[in-house]
Amino acid sequence: MRKDFRYFLVLVRPLFIALGLIMLWIPQSWSSAFDEGKFYYRQQNYSQAVQKLTIASRQDPSNPEVFFALGLAYAQNLQLAQAKSAFEAVLKLTPLASPLGQKAYKNMGIVSRAMMSSQGNGAKANQIAGVLKNTGDNYLGSTINGGKIVHWDMAKMPLLVYVGNGAGVDGWSQDMQASVYNGIREWEAATNYKIRFKQVRDPAQANIKIRWQRNFKHGKVGENPFESMGDTIVRSDVTIATHIDPNGPVLNASEIKQIATHEIGHALGLQGHSPYEGDIMYYMMNPAQSGVPTARDKKTVALLYKIQADVTNNTVGSTAQASLFYDNLKQAEKKAGSSDLQSAIVNYQNALKLKPNSPDLLYNIGVAYSKLKQNDLAISYYRKALTVDPNYTRAKYNLSVHLINQGAEWGNQRRSADAKQAFTEAIQLLEQVERSPNPPQGVQENLQAAQRNLSLVGP
Ligand SMILES: [Zn+2]
Repeated sequence: MRKDFRYFLVLVRPLFIALGLIMLWIPQSWSSAFDEGKFYYRQQNYSQAVQKLTIASRQDPSNPEVFFALGLAYAQNLQLAQAKSAFEAVLKLTPLASPLGQKAYKNMGIVSRAMMSSQGNGAKANQIAGVLKNTGDNYLGSTINGGKIVHWDMAKMPLLVYVGNGAGVDGWSQDMQASVYNGIREWEAATNYKIRFKQVRDPAQANIKIRWQRNFKHGKVGENPFESMGDTIVRSDVTIATHIDPNGPVLNASEIKQIATHEIGHALGLQGHSPYEGDIMYYMMNPAQSGVPTARDKKTVALLYKIQADVTNNTVGSTAQASLFYDNLKQAEKKAGSSDLQSAIVNYQNALKLKPNSPDLLYNIGVAYSKLKQNDLAISYYRKALTVDPNYTRAKYNLSVHLINQGAEWGNQRRSADAKQAFTEAIQLLEQVERSPNPPQGVQENLQAAQRNLSLVGP
């Protein structure tokens, strides 16, 4: 049976892997929430432990041990992404070289592998595990989020990049665009020109878009909303600030270049941060950085691109077209969910323009017409879906239902020949559905109804 057409569906598979987390409890005067969290953890009541340790982390936000314990509790509670964030928080509070920093970093790698295994990505998890043994020369384990390998398709280089004009953004000047291009060139050189970029003037053509903003809150200087759906990168939009401090000076050319290089590193698929201060992918700007990718940054990006991507630019059109496609799809699902079916159909049709002959879209339009009781249109869309994909079980099933109903109507109107044809086709379709691996419920009933109707029509 073909897979359900729901890009928002997240399949949660049971997780049968041992985490093998490195435990560490440092006895000291704990705050009570920390104590309680520790108690629940020992009781193996991990959800309670998470609750208490979350409270403890708010009470004592600069205590790395609290975040370490929270990371362990999250991991045992199989909230792996949260576990990874908690271990990452440890590294913001204590040096990587410290015993706690080392343990937190190793656990980040363990959690990354666990996330991959939980996605049925065992072979890649092993690949990562092998890489993580060479500690120190890369940080691949801390840059994989969500258990998936995400990077652009090497066969589709150059990446098309649009660097927006920041005119109107306070402090922006034209030379900031040049700083971004300098950052881009750093990655080209860092990857021995395996990754290449090409400037485009139309954002609708771009894989990566760069825009400008005066400042962010909390001293943040850049942002990289990266979105994927299924196995396709939908958008990779970078925003760069012209100020760190809202009341401070405008960032200079080398700062802008460094920020751009860091954000483009994210855009290339390095989803997390390096725990090593000097790396361009460290989570904040600091004096240990030279402003260009280090040997470790280079090694990490090279390792990432060596592993086959689970999520990539899997689209015939541009990334911008993919995002338009998925935006329409999201809208359609939302509207269909709120029974605004006519509007949903408009969005499905827009999506269909970008992905003509998609059997799933044709099927979904059919379903919307079924719900609107516009039988002729529903039938025609199920037929279109079946023309593209003759094994589309759901389309066959829904089509057969319409045919039975239409046949009944024709039978009552004494249009015997038409009715007979409709029932006969419905029976053929239902017999095929019945033989499919996961036939929907009700096949038998419908089959009997069609056969009974056919006998009523007579010879
Ligand atoms: Zn970052």
